[in-house]
Amino acid sequence: MITHNLGYPRIGINRDLKKVVEQYWKGEIDKTKLDESVSALKVMHWTTQKNAGIDMVPSNDFSLYDQVLDTAMLVGAVPERYEQLFREEDDKIYSYPIDTYFAMARGLQDGEHDIAAMEMTKWFNTNYHYIVPEFTPDQEFQCLSSKIFDEYEEAKSVGVVTKPVLIGPVSFLLLGKEKDAPDDFHRLDLLDKLLPVYEDILSKLQNMGVEWVQIEEPFLGLDIDDDTKIAFQKAYQKLAEDRSELKLLLTTYFEGLEDNIELAGNLAVEGLHIDLIEAPNQLDTVIDHLDEKVSLSLGVINGRNIWKTDLEKAAKSIQHAVEQLGSDKVMIGPSCSLLHCPVDLEQETDETALPAEVKRWMAFANQKLDELSLLKSYVSNSLSSEDEKLFEQHQNDISDKGKSELVHNSSVQERMQSLDHKMLQRDHLYSERKTQQEEHLNVPKLFPTTTIGSFPQTSEVRKWRSDYRKGNISKEEYEGRIEGAIDELIGRQEEIGLDLLVHGEFERNDMVEYFGEHFAGFAFTRHGWVQSYGTRGVKPPVIYGDVHRPDPVTVRWSSYAQSQTDKPVKGMLTGPVTILQWSFVRDDQSREETTKQIALAIRDEVKDLEEAGIQAIQIDEPAFREGLPLRRKNWEHYLEWAVDAFRLASTVVKDRTQIHTHMCYSEFNDIIEHIARLDADVISMETSRSQMELLEAFVEFDYPNEIGPGVYDIHSPRVPSKEEMVTLLRKAADVLDASQLWVNPDCGLKTRGWEETVPSLENMVAAAKQMRKSQ
Ligand code: GLN
Ligand code: ZN
Repeated sequence: MITHNLGYPRIGINRDLKKVVEQYWKGEIDKTKLDESVSALKVMHWTTQKNAGIDMVPSNDFSLYDQVLDTAMLVGAVPERYEQLFREEDDKIYSYPIDTYFAMARGLQDGEHDIAAMEMTKWFNTNYHYIVPEFTPDQEFQCLSSKIFDEYEEAKSVGVVTKPVLIGPVSFLLLGKEKDAPDDFHRLDLLDKLLPVYEDILSKLQNMGVEWVQIEEPFLGLDIDDDTKIAFQKAYQKLAEDRSELKLLLTTYFEGLEDNIELAGNLAVEGLHIDLIEAPNQLDTVIDHLDEKVSLSLGVINGRNIWKTDLEKAAKSIQHAVEQLGSDKVMIGPSCSLLHCPVDLEQETDETALPAEVKRWMAFANQKLDELSLLKSYVSNSLSSEDEKLFEQHQNDISDKGKSELVHNSSVQERMQSLDHKMLQRDHLYSERKTQQEEHLNVPKLFPTTTIGSFPQTSEVRKWRSDYRKGNISKEEYEGRIEGAIDELIGRQEEIGLDLLVHGEFERNDMVEYFGEHFAGFAFTRHGWVQSYGTRGVKPPVIYGDVHRPDPVTVRWSSYAQSQTDKPVKGMLTGPVTILQWSFVRDDQSREETTKQIALAIRDEVKDLEEAGIQAIQIDEPAFREGLPLRRKNWEHYLEWAVDAFRLASTVVKDRTQIHTHMCYSEFNDIIEHIARLDADVISMETSRSQMELLEAFVEFDYPNEIGPGVYDIHSPRVPSKEEMVTLLRKAADVLDASQLWVNPDCGLKTRGWEETVPSLENMVAAAKQMRKSQ
């Protein structure tokens, strides 16, 4: 039985990759220096894995930006607009292919050129984002980049024989999108053209003496149609033709194979990797369907979460597989690449962020590698006496967690037991609430204006927070400064003429972390970065125990802001689903359960805000859609509890208190009935970039409540004119009832500067006034 890893975090223990790549972008270091630093990083990753006892270490899992973009480079899927730039004869300031690669990733503006970046989207249901390949009908492919070969040699030269990682041809095409194509063209039509390039790559790897290639086809875990199934069969038949020595490990993750098991079990490959964390029950069915020549790799360590693995439990599945298949046909590894978890728990030494007791239950990438080795020795009865102690300690940590008072809070449990349907319901229907809210809130009946919550977070504001955190300024000093910022913002909003004001969120670093810091059951890391896209990382909070809200969180700031003005000030909270989605979650209870606990904590805050005199409360759910499961059949269940959680958080208020929600996108077509079931009095979202077209779902559904379609794009510093916002509002008023419409930007203004924010909002208010007049 061998242990292997599917992928190691690339960012480096001190976010080294971010540093060198950004230096290169700024022109502070040249290509040679970048290569040197990156090479040192890769060598460190390979040797770390080898030293942890991993039998088969991956290569080509590293990337300067993104592995899908790497694959596009590998097969020569470079869109014309980038090709063209580097064909310019006398232009020697850019080097090929590295600058082509970065231009594809992030666009290129240098005064002379203005080339947009390629699109970026979420990697399945993770918070990693990949670059979406573009495919035209006349697309040609050729093996363009030598990265996969070079990395293999590079690792070999430092004594690590690796297993190159390669995204499979079918998934690669499916990850992309058609460009400049007629409706009847599908990117899978390009498979015949793509396969020869894959054949070349594999035969070259074979000639280099590579034993295994990890060929990833995550779409085998998704709902796929018959054409896609045929494409899989065709692809792997073709790739088997000239392959004698080289073995393919067909790799799936994030979901079970389910109805694709027949297909996957019969593809012409030598190994199959399955995710036993997301889909533990698939083991027997997979074994039943597996060709006897095929090895099975069991993903038994969670690649996406940060808890220690119950090794005894994992060992049972492994032993079961070994009994059925023989130990020479079984491999063990993490469920998916460790890209999705932080690098090394040892770095976490700040107990105020992460209590020692909680840390004891956790494992980051390096610890997970140790778990794999330990697991192998345990299953093969070869634990050294030292390892035996480690194993015992490990299992003790897990059972302690099960009993810990830090995790289990009886009053939260009792409250969860006593949830009933009445807690999910406003007193009356929206139609009745509307009149009460109009009177109570006293904003214009037509086209009232508001913002999404945050206002420019200048470096000054960020410095107050860090000074306060470091103890350089006192609590009084800090709070006084935030109040000063609020005063100023209230004045500015009054001058601009906005109707429903906000306090500006100056006290928040991040919309999830801020609430986590004030709720019980959350811990934080200091170095627990996970790549989000390119050089960007996130540091998700850790939900380890029952969640509750010991004290009010935002009431202080919202009521202060309200005391400074006669206009209504909107309270501002993050919704339960978003807090869940952007945190590492518990593995000892369902996501549903955890979300409902968070919802109860928010419910308490909502109630307190109302009691403090706040008349409108916004509960942001930007991550509502991204929580959707990968398989359609599981959507209904998720939407059911996710909507219930929002209702649990929000419906505690009186009819006259207005509940808002905000989502940063507007693809609602397939979930519109559930959006309606949220029963928020007002929903704001993005639509300006699509010229209001995305309102269609609401129109078709006959959505009854109020809507604030964003009238300007806050992602750019551009100041939109009154006229263009009027045009957008007219479009919206053409299809929806004018009395349903609010006027607001697309999203929060946190990342904008004041210079563009004030004139943009002034124009927005002027646009709203013009609309009122013309009704
Ligand atoms: N209220 C938050 C803000 O204005 C919303 C952020 C978001 O939608 N992601 O920043
Ligand atoms: Zn937003």
